[in-house]
Amino acid sequence: MKLGLLAAATAVAVASRTLAAPVLAPPAPLGPDVQPFVHVPAGQIAIQHLRIIDGTGAAPIEDATLLINGAKIGAVLPAGSAIPSGYRTLDGTGETAMPGLVGMHNHLYYLQRPNLDAAGHFEQPIIIPQMTFSAPRLYLANGVTTMRTTGSVEPYTDLSLKREIDAGHLVGPHLDVTSPYLEGPGAFFIQNHQITSPEDARKEVAFWADMGVNSFKAYMHLTRAELGAAIDEAHKHHLKLTGHLCSVTYPEAVALGIDNLEHGFFVNTEFDPGKKPDECSDGTGTPTLLKMRPGSPEANALIKLLVDHHVAITSTLPVFAQSVPLHEPLQARQMDVLSPEAKEAYLFSRNLVASRAGTARGNEFAQAYKNDLGLERQFVAAGGLLMAGPDPTGNGGVIPGFGDQRELELLVEAGFTAVEAIRIGTLNGATYLGLADRIGTIAPGKDADLFIVKGNPAANINDIENVIVVFKDGVGYDSTKLLNSVRGRFGEY
Ligand SMILES: [Zn+2]
Repeated sequence: MKLGLLAAATAVAVASRTLAAPVLAPPAPLGPDVQPFVHVPAGQIAIQHLRIIDGTGAAPIEDATLLINGAKIGAVLPAGSAIPSGYRTLDGTGETAMPGLVGMHNHLYYLQRPNLDAAGHFEQPIIIPQMTFSAPRLYLANGVTTMRTTGSVEPYTDLSLKREIDAGHLVGPHLDVTSPYLEGPGAFFIQNHQITSPEDARKEVAFWADMGVNSFKAYMHLTRAELGAAIDEAHKHHLKLTGHLCSVTYPEAVALGIDNLEHGFFVNTEFDPGKKPDECSDGTGTPTLLKMRPGSPEANALIKLLVDHHVAITSTLPVFAQSVPLHEPLQARQMDVLSPEAKEAYLFSRNLVASRAGTARGNEFAQAYKNDLGLERQFVAAGGLLMAGPDPTGNGGVIPGFGDQRELELLVEAGFTAVEAIRIGTLNGATYLGLADRIGTIAPGKDADLFIVKGNPAANINDIENVIVVFKDGVGYDSTKLLNSVRGRFGEY
């Protein structure tokens, strides 16, 4: 009898494991809605005179020949090598190949503040429309071949999108679909279930694991008991859990067994004045970050704790740069993809933040941002796994795909070398996902998920913006065609 129960329990666990489609689905034939974006059909392809940044952090390989065999990378040959017969030859002179970006904080929605005005007022409630049409195209066009949604608003839609992309019916990157935000009372937007107890947290995690999500995300208003229950249940389903926390501090979350923390060091509340256990603080982490200067005893202790417990950190610099007065404006190519309303909302927000330049509030945030850059470097130097994602929410100034490139540029501004930043944006994410044997570097036998840009990002990281073609499973997609297909749409659908 006891044995029978045990066998039944094991069968249930196995069944729930198989419900999630793998992040990297086997390539399917491409349907009529995908075909128009194909620039280089899959086959035996040899790209000559190409610079290769392999994603490991190593110096680029100059004048190489890249062989692609169907969905896989065949070889990286040194300059002057003969090309085996049967290959279609392309010229990569002046161009650089990199592994496809692995975006680890990449939403499929846009944050709408209804009827926002120039003074920053808007009508309640905050709602979040899906960008199921435009976001996947923007990601792929800009070099993102695998991404985690890191908090879902319409999980059924995201799961269906993954199924349609994997089936070859829609164009887009490989998706790690994250659960809806696991959140208690006090949620920032209205479309969310509110967790009311540890049992409720467990129930929600078990439900979405059975529905086939690949990962979980906790949010700002959970108790320690609820977060602990959610982590435990996710782990029972062999799935990982990350968090954008506030009510639970970083050390508390580490003790509960969390796998990953979002937003660098911006949302740790351990030293926020007035912080009460299990409650979000008013400062939401900024006072703690101001206190935690890189190299301080507080910083050293936290970083040691994170590294010792193998907790990964996701850097999301573009969304925080939006709160630094007089940050870099959106480029014309980015403004071109925004809907008229999203463009207007972005300009209102940008204007408001600019008006804080030189004020105490503006200066304080600029200092917090600087501290975070130093802490991210210290974390990597100590052996921590840092990953990259743009978090395309905020004030409309962070856009899918463009934001992934901006994240790497900001990592270089933080003091990482360009090839280190590229590793953070590629191999490190693949490592966390347990997929480093398939993606994240350019090496023989790995999936042909990579992108080619004009110029040399190892010397000038901004060249990462000059995307020509993005290979996913050996099919080369035309970046310009993808971008043209979403002009004026982001912010609408
Ligand atoms: Zn986010």
